Amino acid sequence: MPKKLPPTVKALRCTICGREYAPDEVAYVCPDHGNEGILDVVYDYAAVKARLSPESLAANRDNTMWRYRPLLPVADDTPVPPLPVGWTPLIRAPRIAKLGGVAEVFLKDDSRQPTGSFKDRASALAVMKAHEANASIITTASTGNAAAALSGMCAAAAAKCVIFVPQSAPPAKIAQLLAYGAKVYLVRGNYDSAFDLCMQAAAEYGWYNRNTGYNPYMAEGKKTAALEICEQLGWKAPDKVFVGVGDGCIISGLHKGFKDLFALGWIDRVPALMGVQAEGSDFMYQTWKQKADPLTFPPINAETAADSISACLPRDRIKASAAILETGGAWLRVCDARILSAIPLLAANSGVFAEPAAAASLAGLLKAKEEGRIAPTDTVALVVTGSGLKDVAAAMKACEDARSATVTVEPSLADVRRTAGELFTK
Ligand SMILES: *Cc1c(COP(=O)(O)O)cnc(C)c1O
Ligand SMILES: [Zn+2]
Repeated sequence: MPKKLPPTVKALRCTICGREYAPDEVAYVCPDHGNEGILDVVYDYAAVKARLSPESLAANRDNTMWRYRPLLPVADDTPVPPLPVGWTPLIRAPRIAKLGGVAEVFLKDDSRQPTGSFKDRASALAVMKAHEANASIITTASTGNAAAALSGMCAAAAAKCVIFVPQSAPPAKIAQLLAYGAKVYLVRGNYDSAFDLCMQAAAEYGWYNRNTGYNPYMAEGKKTAALEICEQLGWKAPDKVFVGVGDGCIISGLHKGFKDLFALGWIDRVPALMGVQAEGSDFMYQTWKQKADPLTFPPINAETAADSISACLPRDRIKASAAILETGGAWLRVCDARILSAIPLLAANSGVFAEPAAAASLAGLLKAKEEGRIAPTDTVALVVTGSGLKDVAAAMKACEDARSATVTVEPSLADVRRTAGELFTK
């Protein structure tokens, strides 16, 4: 028998037909719409308010995403994995603001999550939902970070997982999976083929399915970043939020979090969401430009150095599209060279070291400035979704110019003296 959800959760609503289901009535998607029928969790905000307030939060010393538990779809007694997730720093970055031509920039630094990416927010919730469903094995397909996050959360909670990743995933991400003790399928194919294979295997073996844009709860975990940003700004919403987009689950989650806070009356507006895509993985951008229906638009052939935002068919495309359209935001399309150059630009001007997909948020801000999509008075949040240590090869490539400022010396002071002039003129 699945556990009873708290009274704050009202229903699961199909994003296609709007039909509502009781949470124990369906497992993952709307039965009438198959894998496309992604569900959205509907809350009773009056019931949330009875359990949560800005004052109760100010007094709450639980510095994790679970401080918002009445706004999360888990039973009251489901154990939280013992690896603290969330409440990552919101860092003021004045030099980045200057580069972007805006009043203020804040970096939401999710490179500091326990497994080094934003995906921990969803995976912690996945482990709890699997526990509630009495599932003994959890599975996911991933470009690498969702897999590392699920593996890490499972290791912490003594749960088992089976992972499907493209064979080409960055070695650091694969190393994490192996170290955490996950069972790993390296798929000879891209993320989309790993996704399809994982979906089939999950159905065949009855594994709990964490897949993005299928499992309705992952966006709920991801929305906690939006809740944190507003609480960290003293219950003020930024004007614009930039984030790299692959499947579209993070941007959908952020949208949900801002909508929750607006419905509760704790912020006075929902920020404009700015989705950043790589030129070679621009499905959402294309549908937006062509005013096409993302549900029926054909898959593209995705290819980008920003592996975490590579998706031929973004699985959360319906919600992601709504996130831009309903908030007056925009899709931004940036080439890999500009994504890569944003890595040292962000690091040198803020101290935050991001992987390509995470630095894409800065590349997107600079693009938005060029396109006249920002105002000098704007307060902007850039979501830094993953650590630069996840993909050192990409960082080294991005720093080729900067590396000319290095000098190789013998271990002697004389050699340092000989080359000092050279180092400082570079
Ligand atoms: C997963 C991921 C993204 C994109 O999230 P989607 O939900 O796929 O759009 C961006 N950056 C990093 C580092 C990620 O791991
Ligand atoms: Zn439906």
